[in-house]
Amino acid sequence: MIIQAGQAVITENKLIRHPLIKLRNEVKTTLNIPDSIAYVPLINSHDHLVGNWTPKAGENRPYPNSHIWVEDMKGSQSFLERNKFWLNDGTFDLNVPSALTVARLGAYKNLFSGCGIVQDHGPLQQDSYYDAMPIKVIKRYRQCHSLTLGNWWGGEPAQQEMWLTGGEMPFIVHLGEGTDDVTRQEFTRLKSEGLLKENTLLIHGIAFTEDEIMDIAKAGASICWCPTSNYYLIGKTLDILSAIKHKVNVVIGTDSAMSGAKNLIGEFELIREKFPQIMPRELYRMVTENAVKALYLPQHYAKLDLDDAQNLLLVDENQTDPFENLMNLEMSGIKLMVVDEIPLYGDSIYLESFGDLHQDYSFFEIDGRKKFVVDNPQKIIEEIDATLGYHKDFPFLPF
Ligand SMILES: [Zn+2]
Repeated sequence: MIIQAGQAVITENKLIRHPLIKLRNEVKTTLNIPDSIAYVPLINSHDHLVGNWTPKAGENRPYPNSHIWVEDMKGSQSFLERNKFWLNDGTFDLNVPSALTVARLGAYKNLFSGCGIVQDHGPLQQDSYYDAMPIKVIKRYRQCHSLTLGNWWGGEPAQQEMWLTGGEMPFIVHLGEGTDDVTRQEFTRLKSEGLLKENTLLIHGIAFTEDEIMDIAKAGASICWCPTSNYYLIGKTLDILSAIKHKVNVVIGTDSAMSGAKNLIGEFELIREKFPQIMPRELYRMVTENAVKALYLPQHYAKLDLDDAQNLLLVDENQTDPFENLMNLEMSGIKLMVVDEIPLYGDSIYLESFGDLHQDYSFFEIDGRKKFVVDNPQKIIEEIDATLGYHKDFPFLPF
């Protein structure tokens, strides 16, 4: 299938007007879609899919460190309400049907904001978990919750986890999520345990000093910036300007909705407000090319391939600058999102052009536009409502 769009963003520094995008499939047709801009689907480098419940949790903010919040959160209205639907028995087996349903809800949060790929930070699950998700949830990784709390949620000790990466996949850990001595000392411990390597992805880093940031740059490691969650829980965020100055590979994450923004676009909004000096094209690189590097993904997730596109995010053109345009993306503005050759979300009229597909789709209307989406997220809400006995609204869903 060939799509003629208004404009294409190949990479952060390569733009093409009126591109012809060859989508990898068997369909022989050309779709002319004017007033549109094509990107690759965005990558959310940090989420806890099963934690996507609202409103945010945290009665005693700001916290000196997030480890206190982790305990405090367990008494929150959100946590207790979610427990009615999925009661975590401590095993963190997310393949039980109710956990899987909540995690799928979190995956749809990402889908409706143009994210086709997400890193779901938690203990590794059986393949059936990843296979049940509507978007690509990365399964090649090793992790530790944090050096201070260890792998309380499942997994091996941190050094064992790092060894298991074989240097060929990311090792992901929350680090320096706070402003106190506990979190300030975590970086020294990371280094002394031999855990600062090229495949290390450090989540948060609020406590990092400029010297530590330079160490991270030198190691070629990555930092995931989660500004909304940081400001909300701790009242402070990563020294992002130093991280950019020293050319650290920075990526962006939403964290779960219990502490983070509505979705990745919500993160862009906050960043534009707090750090107007960071160019939108730089933010685009953080959620595409930089994320591919940090998460050890194949290059076709980093840039749009006009000759053989397996991934595509085609959205309304409301602003001529394609990066500014993306910063204000609305759920209704996604015309077509394709991930790993499968159309996942978009305007219904384009789904018809794909002919016979193996997936199930459902349909709904938003802002007067008919949309298709893979599988049926409205069923998730029906299931949750039936258990709770009342209707639960999630701000990250379009219905
Ligand atoms: Zn987190």
